[in-house]
Amino acid sequence: MTDNKRKDFIEENELNLGLDTLAIRSGISRTHEGEHCEPIFTTSSYVFESAEQAAARFSGDEEGNVYSRYTNPTVRTFEDRIAALEGAEAAVATASGMSAILSTFLALLQAGDHVVCSRSVFGTTTMLFTKYLQKFGIGVSFVSLTDVSGWEQAINSKTKCLFLETPSNPLCEVADIAQLSELAHANDCLLIVDNCFCTPALQRPLDLGADIVVHSATKYLDGQGRCLGGVVVGGAEHMDQVLGFIRTCGPTLSPFNAWIFLKSLETLNLRMQAHSVNALEVAWWLNEQPQIEKVYYCGLPTHEGHTLAREQQKHFGGVLSFKVKGKREDAWSFINATRILSITANLGDAKTTIVHPATTTHGRLSDEEKQQAGISDNLIRVAVGLETAKDIIDDLDRGIHAL
Ligand SMILES: *Cc1c(COP(=O)(O)O)cnc(C)c1O
Repeated sequence: MTDNKRKDFIEENELNLGLDTLAIRSGISRTHEGEHCEPIFTTSSYVFESAEQAAARFSGDEEGNVYSRYTNPTVRTFEDRIAALEGAEAAVATASGMSAILSTFLALLQAGDHVVCSRSVFGTTTMLFTKYLQKFGIGVSFVSLTDVSGWEQAINSKTKCLFLETPSNPLCEVADIAQLSELAHANDCLLIVDNCFCTPALQRPLDLGADIVVHSATKYLDGQGRCLGGVVVGGAEHMDQVLGFIRTCGPTLSPFNAWIFLKSLETLNLRMQAHSVNALEVAWWLNEQPQIEKVYYCGLPTHEGHTLAREQQKHFGGVLSFKVKGKREDAWSFINATRILSITANLGDAKTTIVHPATTTHGRLSDEEKQQAGISDNLIRVAVGLETAKDIIDDLDRGIHAL
């Protein structure tokens, strides 16, 4: 990093900048070459001017880069920009969304601790708890996302944090972040929110009282399905602990991926608005089709999370699901009849994706768990992309005609 920060270093608080400006300009630090676009520092290590400087860098007496598992300027720019967007003191980038979640728990918890987690979190997050963290003595209780008394009852003297995603996947249930933060803090716990579905363009959990936000950058932060990454966001002290874990254990974000995310963030707000507008149009259309049993989208006034989503989010996001009238075969026929939509479990892409949760994303759940989570055989999830809304609707209409 150079001192040439003139207009490039933005005093965010001083100028009180808007979301789009932060997404485009925060975190930039130009080199002496004067490049306008953020450069990619593809280097694993850094050279020192002298043995003395090397010693000072290693001891921490002098700030600066040592090795890219510790710091990398492109990754740092991404971290600073995400921190600015989430309104946080600091952020730590990771190699994937899962490593963001893993690193947070391993940095902040120890054997004997307990976590209360929403039942409707990303499937791999559930597995992280049941298959791995429990093995190392970290207990977990799963509760309904929207039942506050359930959260309260599940907290015990060992509980250190509450973990949730809102809106949930795939039924778009909405949790009251402010209320659950109060509950967490009254019990000396942290509230950790996976903000992957909304991104800071639509929802800022830290403003509502949450302590830490985690992201799979793979989804909307990239927005074009190109690479994996993750990020943890929160107070400086917590982020120091997470950074310590990343430096030691190594799930570091690559500078190339960080650069992709930096470019993506420039259009984050525009994209999230457009995903939301398209999804709302698709949801209203599906809602009017007699062959559809029910549509799950918090943008519809009939959805039970609608009022809360209006208060807590700037828009309703791109993911919705619906039940066709019929069985699994009908859901599959619907999916197979589409010609534009991509049959893939990914989401947060400019390309609209369609998937059958019961046999893919939620396929590992037992029948009882599926029933509890509302994942029926006739349920289809669509992550609405940025194509022309009429074309998405026409494609879904092909699905309806196959029923
Ligand atoms: C995809 C996803 C993750 C995991 O992210 P990866 O980048 O695939 O590791 C975590 N949480 C949510 C909500 C996700 O959708």
